[in-house]
Amino acid sequence: MNKDKSFIAIVSFLSVMFIFLIYFLVAGSCMNHAKQKYNIIYWDSAFICANPLDWEVVFNENNIKLVDLSERACWLNTKQKVDKKVKLVIERMINDAEKGGLCLVVSSGYRSIEEQERIKEKYGDLAEEPGKSEHHTGLAIDFTSCPMIDGKRDDTAERLELKNPFKELPEYKWLKNNAHNYGFMQSYDNEPWHWKLVGKKERNEM
Ligand SMILES: [Zn+2]
Repeated sequence: MNKDKSFIAIVSFLSVMFIFLIYFLVAGSCMNHAKQKYNIIYWDSAFICANPLDWEVVFNENNIKLVDLSERACWLNTKQKVDKKVKLVIERMINDAEKGGLCLVVSSGYRSIEEQERIKEKYGDLAEEPGKSEHHTGLAIDFTSCPMIDGKRDDTAERLELKNPFKELPEYKWLKNNAHNYGFMQSYDNEPWHWKLVGKKERNEM
């Protein structure tokens, strides 16, 4: 009788342990799935789990939203300013590319009207009219690349000029294949370096 009781106790104990094990395995994989699917971002200092693909960011070339980033600006290590909500997404993108042996550098982020005026003066027709640049939103960025030395990015090296054929670099290929997972899309065919964070609506129209 005692033997039977201890047998039942052991079986019950093992069953409970088994259920816990399954629970943790399933919960763990769900968490991983959520981490892969959603980028964890900071939004106005509140920690949230958000899907960047759900953001309703609408770009309209005739109606660029001029933003004052003084409150929400974040600086990247390349001394470029971007909107707070894209900073962590960009950094994550750059880290992920680096794991694949590639170096992405943000060469231009937010620009005020005055900054765009200076760029327009310098580059003429190649640059967008002040007031119409997607860079005014803080959500558009220009990428370039830096050399990799022994698997590590060399940020001290001179960066490629945007006019160089970025399109032929593996970094561009990586962006083409992966940037949409972070909510980014290329704005113009003739500007392979220029990407912007877009909302669900625009992505669906792609
Ligand atoms: Zn640009």
